[in-house]
Amino acid sequence: MKQQGMILWLTGLSGAGKTTIAHGVAQKLQRRNYRLEVLDGDVVRTHLSQGLGFSKEDRDTNVRRIGFVAELLSRNGIIAIVAAISPYREVRDQLKQTTTNFVEVYVNAPLAVCEFRDVKGLYTKAQVGQVKHFTGISDPYEEPLNPEIICQTDKFTPQQCVNQVLHYLEQKRLIDFYKNLMQISS
Ligand code: ADP
Repeated sequence: MKQQGMILWLTGLSGAGKTTIAHGVAQKLQRRNYRLEVLDGDVVRTHLSQGLGFSKEDRDTNVRRIGFVAELLSRNGIIAIVAAISPYREVRDQLKQTTTNFVEVYVNAPLAVCEFRDVKGLYTKAQVGQVKHFTGISDPYEEPLNPEIICQTDKFTPQQCVNQVLHYLEQKRLIDFYKNLMQISS
């Protein structure tokens, strides 16, 4: 099977569900032998972007670095799945314009839901000022204006969101996931 490279870029607030959906999509594609890599913002900050902080400049640098690596992978036929808050619209839009097969996924849950989940305990810390420049609390998040996909994670299950992403990619002929599945079962 000749697979197409692409950049599946998941953006959204902390706790919105980017990592969960990224790994859910990755797992399903890997089972069908797609070659891919997940670039997780939290992980990237421990090596590729080690030392960068959370000013606008540093966040944009972080996103550009992730975009650069994702593009290298994509151009070699790999599916690069990025899970990063990537709060600033301009730098996301730049990546969309300068790369091929860039699919922006807005992983959207209301701030109150993300705060309630508080997966990493960071919202509690941000509210009392122990964590500064926290997106959604003390730092901006600029919603995508024209995302290819919106995953409404407060209304749908992770599995439903994963399937929504796969259906979109199939519909755009970026993957042959369901077609192959039908061939196998028929
Ligand atoms: P992020 O990577 O955006 O910071 P995580 O994926 O680490 O977010 O955490 C999201 C949390 O929300 C997880 O505990 C996950 O189980 C939960 N969740 C509930 N519904 C969904 C959904 N539809 N999609 C993704 N995550 C969801």
